[in-house]
Amino acid sequence: MPSVNIPLFSAHKANDSLDFVTPIKKVLESHWYILGAEVKAFEAEFAEYTGVKHCISVANGSEALELALLGLGVKQNDYVVAVANAGFYGSTAIHAVGAKPLYVDIANDTLTMCPVALKASLDLKPSAIIVTHLYGQLANIEEIVSIASAAGIPVLEDCAQSHGASRNGKLAGSFGTIACFSFYPTKNLGALGDGGAIVTNHVEVAEKVLQLRQYGWSKKYHVEVPNGRNSRLDEMQAAILRVKLPHLDTWNAQRRSIAQRYNNAFAHLDMQLPHSINEDFVAHLYVVRVKNRDDFAQYMSSHQISTDIHYPVADHMQPAYNSSKSKSMSLSQTEEACQSVISLPCFPGLPDEDVQRVIDAVVKYFSEGK
Ligand SMILES: *Cc1c(COP(=O)(O)O)cnc(C)c1O
Repeated sequence: MPSVNIPLFSAHKANDSLDFVTPIKKVLESHWYILGAEVKAFEAEFAEYTGVKHCISVANGSEALELALLGLGVKQNDYVVAVANAGFYGSTAIHAVGAKPLYVDIANDTLTMCPVALKASLDLKPSAIIVTHLYGQLANIEEIVSIASAAGIPVLEDCAQSHGASRNGKLAGSFGTIACFSFYPTKNLGALGDGGAIVTNHVEVAEKVLQLRQYGWSKKYHVEVPNGRNSRLDEMQAAILRVKLPHLDTWNAQRRSIAQRYNNAFAHLDMQLPHSINEDFVAHLYVVRVKNRDDFAQYMSSHQISTDIHYPVADHMQPAYNSSKSKSMSLSQTEEACQSVISLPCFPGLPDEDVQRVIDAVVKYFSEGK
């Protein structure tokens, strides 16, 4: 019986062999910690990587979402369309700006926003649409953007799980009006602490977000935009992210290759597998759907394999907000997904033999007639 537990993510393994001392020392020696050369350089590099004109770094992914909604001009009591299976992050931002989530269902295969469901929600005249590229899978973003443009509604891409995902050479974050990233340590591009960014091609939106992240200032001590705050990435995290960004595509390829091994090994089993293992999937999480999830999780745990549920409670079922503060279209696919999704270990640095241990355990589970 193998005794060492396989984790869902290992910061140690994912960051192995990277030199963080040199960039941190450089910042220490500069004696400049906030909004300096490293932040400026990272913003330029990340904008270029994503293929978008402007990048504004912020303190974390959640504030990126909130400031992006404000940047788009979303107001109190406006509706903002979102899916309800993406961990409540978008919902938190919608509530924070005083708007109301308008939940639409997901497509059963990609587990991302269903364009048909989106269309049906537009009668309520939402003022923005948040599209989450969940688990690293690019949503059907081209179709969603085309529906939204026809209706004159801006699209906000939540790319916190999809750094580097692309379709036909176009990257996550470059399809909509504005996009948000998180650099939380477990993300495909992760700092050694909190961090986030907003990218957009629209200069007016970029300028507004730039003001919002620093007290709403137009210049020092002149508050021009309401609802501003302090939301800044610091120089150390920016310096660390600059070390990591050049490796992102390699790490994404490693994640994808693990997902590919799993998909090949599980193809004949009674479970729903990730929809794509192409460039439009960066395997932030390897999520399958099984019938008896508790049983499956228990079995994996008894084989020292970590699993988790992303996410167990749909947004419209969360106890903190009652239904008067949101509106839901039919969410049958969302509710079914919440009952059956389960994540298996998939991260850069996960050893081949651990991937094999996961495969063996899953295959054995089904061969035992589960
Ligand atoms: C992690 C995450 C966020 C929030 O990012 P933080 O940096 O933790 O605030 C937002 N959306 C999605 C989809 C995420 O996975």
